[in-house]
Amino acid sequence: MSESLLADAGQRLEHALKYTSISDDAVETLKFPHTSLTVSIPVRMDNGSLKVFQGYRVRYDDTRGPGKGGVRYHPNVSLDEVQSLAFWMTFKCAALNLPFGGAKGGITVNPKELSRMELERLSRGYVDAIADFIGPDVDILAPDVYTNAMIMGWMMDQYSIIKRQICPAVVTGKPVSMGGSLGRDTATAMGAFFVIESTLPKFDRTAQTTTVAIQGFGNAGAILADLLFQAGYKVVAVSDSQGGIYAKNGLDIPSIRQFKDSCRGIKAIYCDNTVCHTAADEVLTNAELLALDVDILVPAALENQITAANAGDIKARLIYEVANGPITSAADRILNEKGIYVFPDILVNAGGVTVSYFEWVQNRSGLYWTLEEINQRLKLRIVEEAELIWSIARDLSIDLRTAAYVHSLNRLGEAISAKGTRDYYLNHH
Ligand code: GLU
Repeated sequence: MSESLLADAGQRLEHALKYTSISDDAVETLKFPHTSLTVSIPVRMDNGSLKVFQGYRVRYDDTRGPGKGGVRYHPNVSLDEVQSLAFWMTFKCAALNLPFGGAKGGITVNPKELSRMELERLSRGYVDAIADFIGPDVDILAPDVYTNAMIMGWMMDQYSIIKRQICPAVVTGKPVSMGGSLGRDTATAMGAFFVIESTLPKFDRTAQTTTVAIQGFGNAGAILADLLFQAGYKVVAVSDSQGGIYAKNGLDIPSIRQFKDSCRGIKAIYCDNTVCHTAADEVLTNAELLALDVDILVPAALENQITAANAGDIKARLIYEVANGPITSAADRILNEKGIYVFPDILVNAGGVTVSYFEWVQNRSGLYWTLEEINQRLKLRIVEEAELIWSIARDLSIDLRTAAYVHSLNRLGEAISAKGTRDYYLNHH
């Protein structure tokens, strides 16, 4: 990659700043990650050898509250990626008005190559390495790409062992039996679904007349595909890292999910099967999926999927970003020129961290909510913020991503300025 992810993320910040009047202090504060930690995690492998993995935890900003963000296990995890993801978390938490700053963690590893026991030792080792840097009032972990509830449970357990007290609120996305929240597993998809449902009427569309292509069939992509399918949308294409399938009249999502899940018993946490081996549907590549002539395109995989190189091929009218950072800032400009509406990641996928916030609140109060209560609260909050972002875009005649950043910047700027600004100190009024 020629340019760093963080530099690209910074371009969004620069652009959005033109539409806000936040103080110079706030601008200066938000330019750099607050703290970046790199750790080496020694793990005893099943064959007796010792292997050292690289791990990271970055707290980008904590003006609005403790750091909050997931932990990613992926071979491509780097400090630059974790810093950008922490940057996005900062703006995501502000966009949804959650009392958190932004943080992120990661380990450079291909988790599919580890045994379950190695994975547990790695996860506990990661917490050993970063324990002084996290905490329920400092920085709270959660799942991200290739991490799940069980791993969150191990992390919470390890932190509690270190602290010699049960500390459920240091990690969200835990198993429900260990203090996890109902609805956290479906929250990212549910939030995206609420955003799609509440914004679609603005384009005079209904579910039945809308075709959808989804890139990525993980926790977010697969559950969203199902929610859309159940609501009557025509989901014509889905894919995972191995490739995808297409059916002009719509795919039968429940059977595809069943197929993906069928190997759970054999391969446990990670699944070998891919969606492209299912039925007689047409097979297509991820690149072909992105260029399909559909109404809605949902990138739900990884960063940098739509770049200056392929943005010109996009035919969808609406894009809802479920992955973090799937579109580069150069691609944004091309999509804007083509009149494509991009609903940005920091709004669309914020359902996950919103229910993480509910989990943290429940852990701290000791009072647990029903699934209906959680989904209702999530819907209220995400639809309200989507509406505010839509109004900012309309009032300032700017694209939705810039509007979302303006919205977050206003909240971040207010919090940073509350401690005093240059004007305050020099003008004495
Ligand atoms: N990893 C998710 C995200 O990128 C969730 C973070 C959280 O729940 O703290 O938004």
